[in-house]
Order: sequence, then C-alpha cells, then structure tokens
Amino acid sequence: LITASDLTKSFPAPGGAVQVLAGVSLTLERGETLALTGESGSGKSTLLHLLGALDAPDSGEITLDGKALGGLNEAARAKLRRQSVGLVFQQFNLIPSLDVAANIAFQARLAGRYDAAWATELAARLGLTELTHRYPEELSGGQQQRVAIGRALAGRPPVLLADEPTGSLDEATADDVLDLMLALVAETGAGLITVTHSERLAARFGRRLHLRRGQVT
Ligand code: ATP
Ligand code: MG
Repeated sequence: LITASDLTKSFPAPGGAVQVLAGVSLTLERGETLALTGESGSGKSTLLHLLGALDAPDSGEITLDGKALGGLNEAARAKLRRQSVGLVFQQFNLIPSLDVAANIAFQARLAGRYDAAWATELAARLGLTELTHRYPEELSGGQQQRVAIGRALAGRPPVLLADEPTGSLDEATADDVLDLMLALVAETGAGLITVTHSERLAARFGRRLHLRRGQVT
C-alpha cells in the first residue's frame, strides 16, 4: 500500500539547513496498523506529509496505492491524495463555513465516493449525530477531532494517515476514539499510520516505528 525508501528531507534554517529525515524507509500493507512515535521535532509530521503526498522528499522514493509519487505532477498528486488517502491533521483543518455533516462529506464528495448511509453511520459511531448541523466553531476540540476522523474515513480511502488524532482528548475518550478508528480501519481494510506521543496507545497498533535523529528504529 505504501513503500518508502531512503527518504531525506531538510528545511532551511538560520545557520544552514536542518536535516529532518536522513534516509527513512518503511512499508505499510493493507490492513496493517502502524504507530509512529518520536520526540517532538523528530520529524513525525514531516514524514506523514511526505507519505500523504502533501510534500515531496529531497530524495528517495514513495509508492502510494501502487503509484510512484516521483513521476507525478501536482495535479496527479492531488488526485491520488483525494482518492487514496484520508488525513487527520494535528490541527483538524475543518472547513469553518461547513457544518459537521458537510465537513464529514467533503473529501468523499471530492473523490466521487460519497455514501450517505456510511456517512450517517460514521457520524453515529463517532457520537456526532446530535451535532451534524453545528459549525466547527461551536464544537469542543475533542468534537472537532472526531469530525476530522469522520471526514478522513467517509470515502473509505485505502490509506489513513493520522497525526495525533487523539491528542486533545482525555484518556478515556482517546481510548474510545482509537478503538473506533482501529475497528473502522479493520472493516474497510485500510492501512493506518498514526503519530502518537502515548506509549499506551502505541501498544495497541500492529507495528511501531520510532523516529530518532532522522532515522527509524
Ligand atoms: P511534534 O511532535 O512536536 O509534532 P514532529 O515530530 O511532528 O514534532 P515535525 O513537525 O516533523 O516534528 O518537525 C521536524 C523538524 O522540522 C522541526 O525542527 C521543525 O522545526 C522542522 N520543520 C518542519 N516543517 C518545517 C517547515 N515547513 N519549514 C521549516 N522547518 C520545518
Ligand atoms: Mg508533529
């Protein structure tokens, strides 16, 4: 589902470029769940952005859902991203002018895969049924996070990439939301990579990768 080999990525910084990823390789198979851990600033979000075709590596190769990203222009990358990847960002990125139902439907509609019954079921399982007509600014952080998860899953993408999807939830709610994500991913047969700071949550994934000094261990 995903193959990444020898990825490098640097960012310009005062006093010279900082190398964030220094030769990262990984694979993700269908149905696999992978937890990505590492200290703050270790490059977890950067790696997720590369795998989700939101940004390009300086060198190295990524194959996503059978397509080599290196050979694609921006339009083709955007299309692949819409069709193949569900993303849950650290800061939700909900669309403020759309209500909960429309936010959940948004990406699935773009990908031509909107299924009203599935969207309704997702909202219910995420505990959002009563909130479907509210707007993001009227929701708590935890509620917004659940909407973001619903949006990512509504189109049943083969790959789900989540950046601390339970980071703003209390422990019990984080457990519930993770249970639900793992169940939904198992049902849809998707592969999941989740960034988490929590050892306790990381232990619930099939595999773990730890990022340190630009490399995975
Ligand atoms: P956290 O756990 O705090 O979210 P992280 O592991 O996700 O951290 P990244 O956000 O990937 O870390 O950042 C890794 C390093 O790359 C940091 O030093 C950060 O300052 C730098 N960095 C990330 N994005 C950019 C950018 N667009 N421009 C410049 N530097 C960046
Ligand atoms: Mg991050």
